[in-house]
Amino acid sequence: MTRSIGTIGHWIDGAAVAGSSGQHGEVTNPATGEVDAHVALASAQEVGDAVAAAKAAYPGWRDTSLSQRTQVVFRFRELLTARADELAALITREHGKVLSDAAGEVARGREVVEFACGIPHLLKGGFTESASTGVDVHSVRQPLGPVAIISPFNFPAMVPMWFFPVAIAAGNTVVLKPSEKVPSAALWMAELWREAGLPDGVFNVVNGDKVAVDALLEHDDVKSISFVGSTPIAQYIYEQGTKHGKRVQALGGAKNHMVVLPDADLDLAADQAVNAGYGSAGERCMAISALVAVGAIADTLVDKIRERTEGLRTGDGTRGADMGPLVTRAAQERVTSYVEAGEAAGAKVVVDGRGVQADADGEGFFVGPTLLDHVTPEMRVYTDEIFGPVLSVLRVGTYDEALALVNANKYGNGTAIFTNDGGAARRFQNEVEVGMIGINVPIPVPMAYYSFGGWKSSLFGDSHAHGTEGVHFFTRGKVVTTRWLDPSHGGVDLGFPTNG
Ligand code: NAD
Repeated sequence: MTRSIGTIGHWIDGAAVAGSSGQHGEVTNPATGEVDAHVALASAQEVGDAVAAAKAAYPGWRDTSLSQRTQVVFRFRELLTARADELAALITREHGKVLSDAAGEVARGREVVEFACGIPHLLKGGFTESASTGVDVHSVRQPLGPVAIISPFNFPAMVPMWFFPVAIAAGNTVVLKPSEKVPSAALWMAELWREAGLPDGVFNVVNGDKVAVDALLEHDDVKSISFVGSTPIAQYIYEQGTKHGKRVQALGGAKNHMVVLPDADLDLAADQAVNAGYGSAGERCMAISALVAVGAIADTLVDKIRERTEGLRTGDGTRGADMGPLVTRAAQERVTSYVEAGEAAGAKVVVDGRGVQADADGEGFFVGPTLLDHVTPEMRVYTDEIFGPVLSVLRVGTYDEALALVNANKYGNGTAIFTNDGGAARRFQNEVEVGMIGINVPIPVPMAYYSFGGWKSSLFGDSHAHGTEGVHFFTRGKVVTTRWLDPSHGGVDLGFPTNG
């Protein structure tokens, strides 16, 4: 019997809209390998419709009072809390991550919504009375207009929520282009905004691929681009976006190191290496993929990690597995080929996830936890972002060698150090060239009121996501100098104004 497969469309001006480009992609359930739906891929014209809706809604939303705007954001938060399980189930179906992990993603995204509820405090300007005689000065921050968000597959809800709550609370209107691999979460959130009372056109979703992205990059009415994805695309987005006069924050890929010093608690380090290396099948931009063992602890640490992987269950995320599948067949094949390349280059495969027996029906895209030892810095398993459940162990002799290794890497998203030596940890946080650092914390994703972002090839642009940097990104500053009429200030003087 042939199954009927529906087509997922867009959300424009407060309503679901079917795609009209004639182009579509496939959305699979990674746990079974079955095509679940088709997704419409927007043409430049359809992107233009979404931007036009955002542009039309902008003046009204910008002029809506702060207290009314934040009430809508608060209602969105309440609805999201009440219906988080629904969203988590959607994420698991299209992405594959296990349900508890999907629920965790929703919770971390919600933190940014909560942060945005308090935006009035962050939009407050400064005021200086009598900056000059009879002259006052004050500053305000105003929204940009229609802004675009382009998100990756690995956090279908959280990554868009790094941006849109702040953008909307600050008075902007939004066009979100989610990853075409996981289109449903964005549409679900669009419906939630409608329920929360957001006016039509303030939040729009276009599904699509490069055609839609390029249309957003080139559209004159799009004022900023917030992008998250792989490094080559992030660089492209930054170059194209800035060339077209837009403000751009483009967060890229990662290779996150966990440095374990000889004095560390090795059981804690092994637990956390497993959690951070294999959680979400390694498809997290803050996953630990390179474990740097310092000194004589390496054999013991590798052993402890190996033991812990034996208890992990890989399978369908709806069945209580610890680890789900990779997102696509192509991702599965890519990860497997990296393991082969590592082995061929001389790495020792201590735990082999190829051909894992997963608890799932059908032909899911599974690779089990994989542990490679004796990896060296020139191997491709180390230089490239694999984005799968592959943990590589590199052995070094000293702290200085470990630091040099981390700093020589082109990526600088997250890193962690495991030690009981406060002095060493303090030195590391000061010397390491990475944006987010964990001390005995493996995945140091900042709270919403701090800003999320890496260094080097992990971020192109000046602003990190959410926190005060996010508020700055989605607003422009203005300074107003005021003098009320006083005849004594009359008279012509072409000199440059100085304070008096
Ligand atoms: P991706 O770069 O393939 O896709 C990201 C977005 O770009 C998607 O919306 C996609 O449709 C679009 N896109 C893809 N190819 C394009 C092209 N040629 N031109 C224009 N747009 C294009 O990334 P992905 O595979 O969806 O996500 C995984 C990547 O994202 C990893 O590299 C991961 O490290 C990174 N990531 C980074 C962070 C961070 O905070 N730095 C967070 C999450 C994910």
